[in-house]
Amino acid sequence: MQLTETVTGSEALLERGKKSLAGGDSSTMRVLPYAMPLVADRALGSKIWNIEGDEILDMNMSYGPFLFGHRAPFVVDAVTQQISQHGSQLGFPTEISMQVAEKVQQLFPGMELMRFANSGTEAIASAMRLARVTTGRQTIIAFEGNYHGWSDGAFHQYHAPLQSLPASGYGPAIPGTKGMNGAPFDLVICRGNDTDCLQRCVEAYSDTLAAVILEPVGGNCGVIESPSGYLHFVREITLDYNALLIFDEVITGMRVAPGGAQEKYEVNPDITVIAKVLGGGYPGSAFGASRDLMDVVVRGDMFHGGVYSGNAACMAAANAMLGHILDTSTESYPYLYSITSKLASGLRDVFGRAGVPCIVQHVGPLLSMYLTDGKTDSIGNYREVRQHCLFQEYIQLQHAMQRRNVYFHPNQFEPWFPSTAHSEADIEFLLERMEDSVSEVFGL
Ligand code: PMP
Repeated sequence: MQLTETVTGSEALLERGKKSLAGGDSSTMRVLPYAMPLVADRALGSKIWNIEGDEILDMNMSYGPFLFGHRAPFVVDAVTQQISQHGSQLGFPTEISMQVAEKVQQLFPGMELMRFANSGTEAIASAMRLARVTTGRQTIIAFEGNYHGWSDGAFHQYHAPLQSLPASGYGPAIPGTKGMNGAPFDLVICRGNDTDCLQRCVEAYSDTLAAVILEPVGGNCGVIESPSGYLHFVREITLDYNALLIFDEVITGMRVAPGGAQEKYEVNPDITVIAKVLGGGYPGSAFGASRDLMDVVVRGDMFHGGVYSGNAACMAAANAMLGHILDTSTESYPYLYSITSKLASGLRDVFGRAGVPCIVQHVGPLLSMYLTDGKTDSIGNYREVRQHCLFQEYIQLQHAMQRRNVYFHPNQFEPWFPSTAHSEADIEFLLERMEDSVSEVFGL
């Protein structure tokens, strides 16, 4: 069945939503002005249904939590059991949150002690605070194209236009939105995946440097894997300058490997943040570090709280997700890697046959497709995305695919999130439709 082409139910419902919700929904990412309206009704496995009843293959997967597909039965059962038999939120320590923390310790041995929070944004804000409290220094270096949530401490213009980026390769963060009242303070932004530039930046701020924070695989400007040795370089330089290393594994945690990018690349950060897959569709995140570093939280020298932090409903979901990861990792990760490789090579074939320049990059089940101005080798950092990628054509292609019942985000910066629920048949379905969409958009 083709999506309805005329004024759709989704379009009408979104208009109604705009009368009560600013812009029609509660995240700007979900109501971007160029996106084709899609009001979702339900989801299962690799599919999502709009309110018109159209079945759509979902590659966005709610921006990443559903490693085992939408509405995985073991998560639904765990949450149902928790809320019906025990309660969603008890206002006291609970065993379920201890069980989750113990599983996180197994997957991320560097998180000797942790705290749960409700979103990546919150956990990152706390991780940055932890770095400042424990070092007694202020400056944090982050990278172009990396997103660390929307708190005043971290929200920089991570998709800044090329002309506003410093020629030197680093400089003070540009605020990510109006209304930040001068923040982010003491945040310096550096060009990504460039050892010389980072060396100069660290030297320039060495007196005040508390930490370097990064996405160990860039997932907010497509998918960018660092050149081999880069993450080790960042580890070494932070140690040399007595600064901490924070890995924002909100996307990569439990995705690129059960123990995240730190397991995959064998680099141990000082502070780790995880979210998305942790909650498996329920709001949950964690920040954690060694016992020594976390001691400031234990002693109460650094405040961290939150009525819903570590609430039992979300902990039940997290317990089910992490339990499933620990039980099935030897089958599920090879599957996630191989199904995504099939998708990547299929996409390369489609674009290759059509003669349309396209770069597909993926690290396990985290993939992005860049339509380029002719560049065909690889995209190595945010500046290259800006320099070489065709954003308007990508939107047109996304629309053509959405009309053919396949959804991925229309912004080329947003990755695709395959799951174990994505079957070979799903990939074939997608590739056939991509073939047609490429012909339509590029007039072949
Ligand atoms: N860090 C990274 C790397 C992210 O991708 C995101 C969200 N996309 C965040 C932090 C913020 O997480 P949340 O939306 O849960 O606040």
